[in-house]
Order: sequence, then structure tokens, then C-alpha cells
Amino acid sequence: MEGQMVQQPGERDEGCSICTKPAVARLTFPDRLLCADHFRMDCEERVKSAIMTMIAPGDRIAVGLSGGKDSTALLLILTEILDTPGDVSLTAITIDEGINGYREETRAAAKSLTRQLGINQIEITFSELYGHDLDVMLTGRENEACTVCGVLRRRALLEGARRAGATKIATGHNLDDESQSVLMNVLRGDLPRLVMDTASGYPDCFIPRIKPLSPLSEKEIVIYLMVRGAFPDLPECPYAHTALRGEVREMIAELELHHPGTKMNLVTARDRIRELFGGDCATDALPGSGLVTWCRRCGEVCSGDICSVCRVLTELPMDF
Ligand code: SF4
Repeated sequence: MEGQMVQQPGERDEGCSICTKPAVARLTFPDRLLCADHFRMDCEERVKSAIMTMIAPGDRIAVGLSGGKDSTALLLILTEILDTPGDVSLTAITIDEGINGYREETRAAAKSLTRQLGINQIEITFSELYGHDLDVMLTGRENEACTVCGVLRRRALLEGARRAGATKIATGHNLDDESQSVLMNVLRGDLPRLVMDTASGYPDCFIPRIKPLSPLSEKEIVIYLMVRGAFPDLPECPYAHTALRGEVREMIAELELHHPGTKMNLVTARDRIRELFGGDCATDALPGSGLVTWCRRCGEVCSGDICSVCRVLTELPMDF
């Protein structure tokens, strides 16, 4: 099993398992100590071997770039391991939800990174798409921030990917995010989300979503950014504490501490369940199958009368 966990080496000066330089991290499955150079190579190799099953020559990849650590690492690694411009092309998509005191800094970080890497960037704002900033839409319902924001961000990213003419959407979800999503879907009893593989996509309906950082844990991403001198020291979203994800994160972190491999086991279990359901669930859910229809308000693909974006906007306490 290629499960990963990073621990700082102990108090003793321990050397890299491959060369003589001091180790910066201990990884498990298999157990190894790595110096900064070999740690960076190890991370890039694991992402490279994961992404080879996700993309094809000629793909135009829209990369969700918030400017935070995960998306920064994603863009850095993709520009390092992919032949661009060449077999594939990258366009960064940055969404400005309109979160006062938070988004200004991350937007500036995203813009600076794309300039440094020479990557095209498309910026999309909630006020442009939905008529208002998130802060305004959340008045009186701040405790639903991440639910509202998550639905609207997914649509905004899709819009950015369409403007870029993208064939794939890449997001910075890591192993921790993936394991949390598995548990959250179980806790909500949301079987469709648990089994739906959004990497499948389908022409004209869905742009496939890929998660190249899924082999790396959050700690590994932090260390990767540090060894590359690119750790973005940015504020946390003021709404982050309202998410169920925060509680699930703490629960899984505790389990991982006492039972190493828990995160990877959750993701592996989900992948096996998807195989049992036939793997390509998105294809089974095509319009015409009765499982997926078109939203009668906006015309987007959805699973009922009205899509989640229109439902969220309708439920807001203002006339949107
Ligand atoms: Fe949106 Fe919640 Fe993420 Fe903030 S923490 S950007 S509200 S999803």
C-alpha cells in the first residue's frame, strides 16, 4: 500500500535513506527518511504516476488556483512534471467569492504565482456571476457559509473552465481532503456522492474533474512548499470554522495518529465501493437515463427539477 504519513525526524540528526544529506521528513508505506531534494522528487513522482491515469495528450487543463497552499503546490508540481506547452496546456482559474479581509491576499498570491510561472489566468467573481459577493449573500446565514460557497464555487470553476476551453478541471484536493469527504458522505448518508466518480466526466455534460494531489497528505504538501521556498503564509477564511469538515478533520487526524494508514484506508475503501458500483457512475447518470436532467431555471445538468446553484440562490434571504 502506498499510504503516506509524514513525521518530523526525531531529535537525533538522521540522514536521508538515499543520500547522505540530513533528512527533512519521514514517510511511511514504505518507511523512509528523505532529504529536501529526495522528498521533493518523491512527491513529484507520486503525483506524476497518479496523473498519468487522469490525462491524455492534447488535454487543456483548467487548474483551480485559490492562491492557498494546496492549489499553489498543485500548479508548481504540474508545471514541473508536465510537458507544457507541449502535450498539455494549463490555465489557472481563480475564483473571488467576495470574502472581505481574506480573498484580497490570496488573489494577489495567485496572480503573482501565475506571472512567475508564465501561466494564463482567468479570474471570475461571484458578483459577476451571481450579482453579489458571498459576504452579502450570507447575511443572517453565516453558519451555512461552506455549503453555499461550495455549490457556487463549483459552478464558477466550471464557468472558468469553459471560458478556457478546458477538457479537464484539476483541483488541489489532497489525501486528507479525500478521506474527509469519504467520512462526510457516510455521515450524511449521501451514497450518490460517495460512489460518483467526477473524474469520469462525459462530453457536453461534465468536464472531468481530476485531483492530482490525492496521493499527498496535507503535511507533505506543507513540507513540499517549504523545501521549494514557496509556502504562502496567508489568512484563513473567516467562515472555515462553520464547516462539518473541520470536525471530521479533527476526528480523522486523531485516528491517523493512533492507527497510521487510516486516511489511505478510507480512500481505498471508497475506490473499492466505486468498483462494486461499476466504476463509471457519471456515465450511468447521463441525461436521458432519468437519473440526471436539465435544470428548468438555468439549463445546467442536475439531478432534479432545479440544480443546486439555483436552489441555493432561491433560498437566500434576498431577492436574487
Ligand atoms: Fe468558501 Fe468555506 Fe472555503 Fe471559506 S472555508 S472559501 S466559505 S468553502
